[in-house]
Amino acid sequence: MLKVVKNVCAAILSANKMDQAKELIEQRIKRIVGEFDFERRRISHPEECLCYLEGKSCHPGKKGEVNCLLCYCPEYDSDKIEGGCKINNPGGKWFYHKSLPQGKIWDCSDCDHPHQREVAEKHLRKIWGN
Ligand code: SF4
Repeated sequence: MLKVVKNVCAAILSANKMDQAKELIEQRIKRIVGEFDFERRRISHPEECLCYLEGKSCHPGKKGEVNCLLCYCPEYDSDKIEGGCKINNPGGKWFYHKSLPQGKIWDCSDCDHPHQREVAEKHLRKIWGN
């Protein structure tokens, strides 16, 4: 009986530790992503990007904060020479030009998907399995 109680206690403790670890990871994710908000980065690390030095983000049309953690979008399909969007985000579009190897290339200049805090947090959660 004592062994069963011990095992149950160990399982509860372990579950509590797991919950604490998940909570800690979640706090760290929010802190890391927060460090990459454009306005914060512009002040703390102006040398890292021309946009910081000029005080203008590369997505001036985006409403709200631009987050720079995913400067290179993880959804960009770089397996194809012409590129593409793995999630078919309507913010992207094809740019056509006869000098391009495929006659076109995927253009993300109007898409702000990777610059949303929630998207950056989601990717970090995926990496850390949280
Ligand atoms: S920036 Fe937007 S359109 Fe471009 S790959 Fe990422 S999600 Fe797709």
